[in-house]
Amino acid sequence: MTAPAATALGVGLRVLVESPTTSAAQVVADAPVGSPQDPSAVARLLGEPLPAVLTFEHEHIPAAAFEAAAAAGVPARPSAEALVHAQDKTVMRRRLTELGVPCPRWSPVADAAALATFLEDVGGEAVVKTARGGYDGKGVRVVRSAHDVAEWFAAARIGGPALLAEEKVPFVRELAVLLARRPSGEVRVWPVVETVQRDGVCAEVLAPAPDLDPEVERAAVQAARAVAEGLDVTGVLAVEMFEVAGGDRGRVLVNELAMRPHNSGHWTIDAAVTSQFEQHLRAVLDLPLGETAARARWAVMANVLGSSLERLTDALPAVLAADPAAKVHLYGKEVRPGRKLGHVTVTGEDLADVRARAARAAAILRGDPA
Ligand code: ADP
Repeated sequence: MTAPAATALGVGLRVLVESPTTSAAQVVADAPVGSPQDPSAVARLLGEPLPAVLTFEHEHIPAAAFEAAAAAGVPARPSAEALVHAQDKTVMRRRLTELGVPCPRWSPVADAAALATFLEDVGGEAVVKTARGGYDGKGVRVVRSAHDVAEWFAAARIGGPALLAEEKVPFVRELAVLLARRPSGEVRVWPVVETVQRDGVCAEVLAPAPDLDPEVERAAVQAARAVAEGLDVTGVLAVEMFEVAGGDRGRVLVNELAMRPHNSGHWTIDAAVTSQFEQHLRAVLDLPLGETAARARWAVMANVLGSSLERLTDALPAVLAADPAAKVHLYGKEVRPGRKLGHVTVTGEDLADVRARAARAAAILRGDPA
């Protein structure tokens, strides 16, 4: 999704891909194959002609890749020091707490006894997370006892990811604030959105968040800016938050961070003046940032999570005929249950209508019966 933005700006992309069939390899010609864990693959990525900047589309980047970039004289944006806060939830919680950014109550839990103490403090129920390596709700579990995560403790003892516990936040809904920041410090923030998760995975994004209290909006944007500035983030930053009914720590609590274009910002491709993909390029190249205003009253993005179809493109005649104004994005991925295979964005004046149309288009791509 970065490729069309790069093409428009005349910016060349070289992408390190894990296999020649990945989504990125299908659309970027200069795509060396290899893992970011493999020094020779990273060397190919950083080879001649020397790139102007190194950036990322996921968090699983080893320190050695940053060291190789520094040795080659290629700036990494975000930096290793910033990205660690999106890689490790314990590091993130500790730093955000220092910065005074509102977070759920939390504690590192080294063993079952520490978790038992935390459970007592928070009233018997907590959310346990692996500090590293989780995504789409994998590595997040609601627990009432240490037995519920016995195998995670066992894994942690033999070098697996450390664990942390958080209070189970009784949130009203989940919000996300997307912004971009340049090395020179310029920041631009898109309208605050609501994210709707099903089974721990984002299913829908409503832009802007409906009926958002201006006070909550201010608090959400303020928290996201504090993260961007406090961690010296460059590029796109997504800050996922819980909206709560009220309490001693305010109306929003930060859940987690992504330092890259994020699913909560896919709506910007079709419905904001500047898409998150274009803005990420502008930000990491230290170019002036683009206007972030929405181009429609409402935009709803629905993810296509799994499909009964063998190839999603088989559904193009049906989905495009059903709603000529729906914007369909398919990622060229192999179909697997629950996998994010694409998304649809619909815009318009009536939220209920826009939401229903986005859901309908996603259902056609999932192969659901009419
Ligand atoms: P991942 O890194 O897998 O995306 P998250 O930390 O974002 O994991 O958690 C996934 C989902 O689990 C969240 O979107 C939210 O619905 C729920 N969740 C996470 N932490 C908490 C919490 N402290 N209280 C209540 N729900 C939570």
